[in-house]
Amino acid sequence: MSTCQPDGGGPASIPLQDPAREYRELREELDEAVRRVMEDGRYVLGPAVEAFEEAVAERLGAAYAMGVASGTDALVLALRALGVGEGDEVVTSPFSFVATAEAILRAGAEPVFADVRPDTLNLDPEAAADAVTPRTAALLPVHLYGQMADVRELRGLAERHGLALVEDAAQALGAAQRPSGPGDRGAAAGEGWRPAGTAGDAGCFSFYPVKSLGGMGDGGMVVTDDEEVARRLRRLRDHGRDPEAGHEDRGLHREVAYNSRLDALQAAVLRVKLGRLEAWNDRRRRHARAYDRALEDHDSVEPPPVRPGNRHVYTQYTVRCRDREAVRTALRRAGIGHGVYYPVPLHLQPPLRRFGGGPGSFPVAERAAGEVLSLPVFPTLTEEERDRVADALAGL
Ligand SMILES: *Cc1c(COP(=O)(O)O)cnc(C)c1O
Repeated sequence: MSTCQPDGGGPASIPLQDPAREYRELREELDEAVRRVMEDGRYVLGPAVEAFEEAVAERLGAAYAMGVASGTDALVLALRALGVGEGDEVVTSPFSFVATAEAILRAGAEPVFADVRPDTLNLDPEAAADAVTPRTAALLPVHLYGQMADVRELRGLAERHGLALVEDAAQALGAAQRPSGPGDRGAAAGEGWRPAGTAGDAGCFSFYPVKSLGGMGDGGMVVTDDEEVARRLRRLRDHGRDPEAGHEDRGLHREVAYNSRLDALQAAVLRVKLGRLEAWNDRRRRHARAYDRALEDHDSVEPPPVRPGNRHVYTQYTVRCRDREAVRTALRRAGIGHGVYYPVPLHLQPPLRRFGGGPGSFPVAERAAGEVLSLPVFPTLTEEERDRVADALAGL
């Protein structure tokens, strides 16, 4: 808990995450939103979910948004709605949460890993191009920590080979990228930003409590501009029922599918919090700037690089440490929470080893796994706490 005192009665420790603070900040609005759903009685899908879906679609400029039970399900259902399955390969990053690869396998396809860029730790478009085979059906880049992968290059690759492009934007709601890279005329002309999740055929989000938009439980969403994909997805999430089926056809199931629906209580909570997303992501960026400054000229702890043209939302603020254990010891002494995302790359996880070439096959991801360390950057972190973290970093 954020309030407990470390040994010796020093200053309170600073947690890595504390989602209950978001509730305390918005208590009245959230209580009211939840109360309305409880009284309404439509607890699964229904008007509260539709209102939230519309709000997300509008914010992202996507034609369709579908709430599902989790970010993992968003990935599984998006792949399936795009026709990716048995016999197909999906090229993805080996440096992600396990759900990315799990979803590919759950959809019936096989993950093919390609190494990440050494700066952003996102899928390297050149490595991805090398991993494409005649069986490749889709690319699944991950926008790690809240910074988008190089979607322009990946989209070009997908178009050249006729592949689907699905974004794992679980950590990146609110992130964006200029549609043209640095130095391009578009960027110079101040052209608009492309929101994470809208660069390919489908974008997948998670509302796990500590993502940039966090619910009070599990939840996820898929956005797309493709009407057919949206229709298939709505059918898949609801036992294979046609979404537009009238009351008399509710008993007709066109395929064996899933029960993966967003519930109304989560949607109501998320819609309230969505109204704060922009401001909260700004706070995350301010925390990040303070840490960046504290780490300027540091020779053994590197702040997270941001590629030009990227708007990072810092779902995690993740440094690289030459000696991670030493840094962890210092942070523990200072009472500062921290975490490692991710200590083991996907191709070295026991059930996924058969999809990689063993240790040494993705050296950039493997090196990152030994060096990354995430620090408290959540939006309700106080300035005083942020300054304590920054001081601790400067003193490393
Ligand atoms: C959180 C996360 C997921 C899975 O989301 P859940 O809502 O927890 O199922 C998938 N991919 C990445 C990169 C994530 O961070």
